Amino acid sequence: MKINNVVVIGSGTMGGGIAAQLCNANIPVTLLDLKTEISKKARDIIFNSRPPLLLDKSKINNIKVGNIYDDFGTVKKADWIVEAVVEKIDIKRNLYKKIFKERKKESIVSSNTSSIPIKVLAQNLSEKDKKDFCITHFFNPVRYMGLLEIVKNNNNDIEKINFLKNFCETLLGKGAIICNDTPGFLGNRVGVYALQVAMTEAIKMKLSVEEADAIFGRPMGIPKTGIFGLYDLIGIDLMADVLKSFIKELPKSDKFYDVAKEIPLISRLIEAGYTGRKGKGGFYRVNKSGGKKILEALNLETGNYFPTKKINIKSDRIDLKKLINRDDKYGEYAWSVLSKIIKYASSLVPEITKEFNDIDEAMRLGFNWSKGPFEMLEEIGVKNFFEKIDNFENNEFLKNLSKSKNENFYGERQKYTEIETLGKIKRTAINIDKNDSAEIFRFKDFNIVEFTTKANVLDYNSMDCLKKATDKPLIIINESMQFSAGVNLNYIMEFVKQKDFKSIEKFIKYFQETCKHLKYCENPVISAPSGLALGGGFEVIVQSNFVTSHTNIVMGLVETIVGLIPAGGGCKEMLWRWSQTEEGKKDPDYAPLKVFEIIGYAKTATSPVEAEPLMFLTSENKKIMNRNSLLPEAKLLLEKNKNFIPPNECKFKLSGEKVREKMLNSLEKLYDEKKILDHGLEVGKKLAYVLSGGRTNLNNELSEDDLYNLELDAFMKLIQTDKTHERIKHTLETGKPLIN
Ligand code: NAD
Repeated sequence: MKINNVVVIGSGTMGGGIAAQLCNANIPVTLLDLKTEISKKARDIIFNSRPPLLLDKSKINNIKVGNIYDDFGTVKKADWIVEAVVEKIDIKRNLYKKIFKERKKESIVSSNTSSIPIKVLAQNLSEKDKKDFCITHFFNPVRYMGLLEIVKNNNNDIEKINFLKNFCETLLGKGAIICNDTPGFLGNRVGVYALQVAMTEAIKMKLSVEEADAIFGRPMGIPKTGIFGLYDLIGIDLMADVLKSFIKELPKSDKFYDVAKEIPLISRLIEAGYTGRKGKGGFYRVNKSGGKKILEALNLETGNYFPTKKINIKSDRIDLKKLINRDDKYGEYAWSVLSKIIKYASSLVPEITKEFNDIDEAMRLGFNWSKGPFEMLEEIGVKNFFEKIDNFENNEFLKNLSKSKNENFYGERQKYTEIETLGKIKRTAINIDKNDSAEIFRFKDFNIVEFTTKANVLDYNSMDCLKKATDKPLIIINESMQFSAGVNLNYIMEFVKQKDFKSIEKFIKYFQETCKHLKYCENPVISAPSGLALGGGFEVIVQSNFVTSHTNIVMGLVETIVGLIPAGGGCKEMLWRWSQTEEGKKDPDYAPLKVFEIIGYAKTATSPVEAEPLMFLTSENKKIMNRNSLLPEAKLLLEKNKNFIPPNECKFKLSGEKVREKMLNSLEKLYDEKKILDHGLEVGKKLAYVLSGGRTNLNNELSEDDLYNLELDAFMKLIQTDKTHERIKHTLETGKPLIN
């Protein structure tokens, strides 16, 4: 069995996304639609998508386009035909008739339906054809969402299904969970229920849109779009259709009915064109009146919009126990929503799935929750849960658990895959060390450090854990979305507020010392990033001895955006890398000028393919599609490097003033063209001073410590300027850079 050639029929959101991910895996794919213009347009959308669906723009060459009338012959050659047309049973069935007539023997045919049962889709297929037909339910956006639900027929060729699962895991990087043929499968059944509970309870308890999103969001380990924000993102009209299809498929006794009743406010929104972000807005909208953009939220009682209010629930980290026991309406809301989700999810075991762990994984991979309902129950504690919950009749799972009171009911993680994932291995650690910012999992032959702060931002404690963990070979890896968004700017700003610059200096020095230690200590250090790896997060990676990188990363040194420069060795290490290129060896000014441009413009790479030409990653660094495989790959590297010898310290020869002048000239030009303003010029000059080596010339040799000192000095000067504070505060408040 092999998949060397794929045809995707239907080039909308999902067909385009699936085709793009196949391109990323270098599988040739033909994208067909009703008209070639439509699939051509889809290819343009893929090419220009943000966040990018392609690992690299050149991958687009793997896609051919066509229409289902003139180009249906392509189906003859395909090993896998994916149907991703509109959610209409007749259209899909008609297409299958054509596909099965044309397709080559043994090829796999699958549908991307999100709600039509396979028994309905496959109704008219012959028994022989049914063997090769299944559902492959991808999530949007396909490159970034980990979940793929595979739904089998009764008489599927199991070997083929396993082959497809393996293909999608390894080459497309998906967490492929085999599901039963039940409405909404696993992800949407629980995910949509959870959204509906969160919405109906918020309305019942008279919480505002912002309040509900502030609770049913980060404090629960749920993405910050919360409930109303996510509704706007998905489309309020689309959600209404999804609910209708659930109601049609589910028996009246299902608790889904309690939360899927039509809400008059929602019907009014749809009628008025408030369908979410794609329409005029939804629960949130941007009001552009008076020349200013103001984010407004809907008052759920009056139906009027008001400027959004910031809700401060004073919870920095996820602590479900604390959250549900709060003595206010937020605590009451959190408990009501969470307990209902846990009750519903557990009521589906064993009828919908025998494996409750699969439900948790579907919520992680398909909805980006940091924990699924059963892990939430585990975190709350079985005893605490049953002390608070009222009735749970007809729920066999909870009945049994209430009898056994087994706090350790959970057992193994990520059962859907054979891969030895971080989630699985963490539970087998011999010993765990932790502080407020990171955890060390100790094993016989190596240690793992996992950062644990919001977006894994780094502070003194994070560095402490890294340093302590180098007593054995070390793997730095995370289960949460981001590797690290950089240094914790809130932490820095607390010191700024108290004018305690000595503490900032102490921290930066410790950061440098730790990174240098990672690079030169006797044990190898491997970073295994996924998601954001920015600023300080990238400095940790670039000073590790080895890297195995997930293909979904955003990497770079972005300090200049907040009026700073990299000071944890980022400037130094990038200089070294570029000085080792052929051009860099010939011309001593080549590396400083290149790095000046990269750091000055805060360039980022959105995939390892983009990271290589910037030298954020090298060709030796492993690039991996399936995030679950990061840990096994890192372990393999440790195995291969048993006789690891730390690298030699780098020495630099820089031309000082000579190259600095070139940098200053380009800064002056930008300033004259008003592309940068006074503070931008100041930051640029400081960066130029560091990258040119300060007061030096080509006869002088600089050590790494010399460069660390230059970085520190520039950083300390900039962090004491009001303009930098203004930039940092703006970024912390809005999540966006200050453009001026
Ligand atoms: P879409 O409306 O964006 O795209 C559907 C495409 O199918 C359109 O380009 C349309 O021209 C084309 N089409 C219609 N009839 C056709 C035919 N007979 N032959 C060829 N092309 C035809 O829809 P979508 O959001 O991409 O959804 C596609 C499928 O994926 C649906 O079954 C949907 O339920 C499912 N799905 C959607 C999402 C999502 O988030 N959008 C997620 C998971 C699954």
